[in-house]
Amino acid sequence: MKAVMFYKPGVVKYEETQTPEINPGEVLIKIETALTCGTDVKTYKRGHPLLIKEVPSGFGHEFAGVIYKTGSEVEGFKPGDRVVAANSAPCGKCYYCRLGELNLCENLDLLNGAFADFIRIPELITRQNLLHIPEHLTFDESAFAEPLANVVLGIQKTGIKPGQTVGVVGLGPIGLMFVRLAKLKGARVIAAGRNPLKLRLAREFGQADEVINLLETPDPKRAFLDLTPEGKGLDAVVEAVGLPELWEKVIDLVRKGGTVNLFGGCKSGTTVTLDTRRIHYDGIKIISPFHHTPLHFRESLKLISDGMVDVKKLITHKMHISRIEEAIKLHNEGKAVKIALKP
Ligand SMILES: [Zn+2]
Ligand SMILES: [Zn+2]
Repeated sequence: MKAVMFYKPGVVKYEETQTPEINPGEVLIKIETALTCGTDVKTYKRGHPLLIKEVPSGFGHEFAGVIYKTGSEVEGFKPGDRVVAANSAPCGKCYYCRLGELNLCENLDLLNGAFADFIRIPELITRQNLLHIPEHLTFDESAFAEPLANVVLGIQKTGIKPGQTVGVVGLGPIGLMFVRLAKLKGARVIAAGRNPLKLRLAREFGQADEVINLLETPDPKRAFLDLTPEGKGLDAVVEAVGLPELWEKVIDLVRKGGTVNLFGGCKSGTTVTLDTRRIHYDGIKIISPFHHTPLHFRESLKLISDGMVDVKKLITHKMHISRIEEAIKLHNEGKAVKIALKP
């Protein structure tokens, strides 16, 4: 088969490689759509401690396709089935799985290799996180089930109540999906970003009530506060960029007792400085949720299937998998939100 292989930061090759063999509990999926993701862009630039275990490595982790082969022990699936799979599944045995904190499983083995003709789905994922695609959904739409699942968990942990004012800072695909899900929770949503394409999508896809263009706003804090009841601050804010300096800033956007969701993962080794008075005496709750669970993955596919999140609007380009480097360039230049790659 042909696949995109990651060799080192800045070096990926679209080349002939071995079609994976499957074990009795596994399936082989023929990829129909693989989506680009911010994580892929970061990985391309600097590698990834969890995703790239050896080189050359497969690349890409958001996908949907058709089952090509099933192992002898697989139940409920057959060749020809349209499916979507998450990029991991909890082991069910470790300390955190036993606590029910499945997203924190110590043995999350992140799957990589979706920018290819075929992908092998490990047994844990086949058993827990392989889902049939509803008939009316396209492969492009279904492939969003994984990225959206992260946001489904992130929104749940934020605990938004109807009528609250929620801010989202950073409008990549994750930020945009936060805008949409916060709206579905009944919040009034203020979206802030710098890219005109993404600011437009905050309204058209996310249905944001207010949009703040950070490039044209000299005092973003003032701009946020002015949009909240009595200027007291947001009930909740989500940082969806992953920059320590932004983590520090968004804390000042919430009211007393507000919730700060630091969702964007920062470069490892970085630190932040926080005002203890603000956190203690203002009773601010800081959370930083990560990843998803099988439950959130199912809820995510259902939201897409029910038409609650019109993910198609996030696809700005479609191209052949061999054009991966061009796709990454488009992301770097801020011209793409999601690119649907096709083998
Ligand atoms: Zn992703
Ligand atoms: Zn576990």
